[in-house]
Amino acid sequence: MRLVLLGPPGAGKGTQAKILEERFGVPQISTGDILRGQVAAKTELGRQAKAFMDAGDLVPDDLIVAMMEGELRGKPSFVLDGFPRTVAQAEALDGMLQRLGLPLTSVLSIEANREALMRRLSGRWTNPRTGRTYHDEFNPPRLPRIDDEDGGPLVQRRDDTIDVVAERLATYDEKTAPLVGYYEKKGQLVRIDGLQPIDAVTQAVLSALGREAARP
Ligand code: ADP
Ligand code: ADP
Repeated sequence: MRLVLLGPPGAGKGTQAKILEERFGVPQISTGDILRGQVAAKTELGRQAKAFMDAGDLVPDDLIVAMMEGELRGKPSFVLDGFPRTVAQAEALDGMLQRLGLPLTSVLSIEANREALMRRLSGRWTNPRTGRTYHDEFNPPRLPRIDDEDGGPLVQRRDDTIDVVAERLATYDEKTAPLVGYYEKKGQLVRIDGLQPIDAVTQAVLSALGREAARP
């Protein structure tokens, strides 16, 4: 399985990627989680990425593509969460996968409206160690601010504030939304209604994967 999860911030990409990872053992590769790890570890990449992330802008393509070349090496299956985010990144990914002889299985576009995205992001709680997310209302942890899985503390991301979220949504519309058409033209796109509850979205994802697997 080699999947790309497309969708605006808050659509549920990370939530579904973690579910696929648990069910099928396919590793989730989340560029956001990797970048936050680099920022926390104060690496050179983290230093360069931080200001863009705090402003809700994209980190420059050359940095992301170099990082992903390393991440994809030696991984025959993966769920990409948050990459590609520009047409230039999508073209670079096509090139990498072509060289490796590993074409994408499919690209799932998880769709939701702005109102739902704002509600989801404003109530999101994240485990900074694992990237797992919860929601005050839609997916609460058993104990407040504690991860059910590893007992670690949950935090609100510094870019999940109203101002930065507005900027991230605008960045999505301008730079990432064109990828929907890009993959549709290549016949690789499946649209998923992301407004449904988490379990129903998972069912839609699994049935899309079943149909793709059955394709000649
Ligand atoms: P993304 O990775 O696309 O930014 P997340 O998976 O982190 O999105 O989800 C954003 C927030 O919305 C999280 O708090 C998550 O618990 C919640 N969430 C995810 N999917 C759904 C859903 N289908 N319905 C309601 N809330 C959801
Ligand atoms: P979301 O949960 O909103 O989908 P992510 O955790 O995927 O957010 O990304 C957080 C931030 O990391 C983005 O706002 C951006 O600054 C940076 N980022 C993540 N992935 C990419 C990418 N593929 N290209 C450029 N910047 C990225």
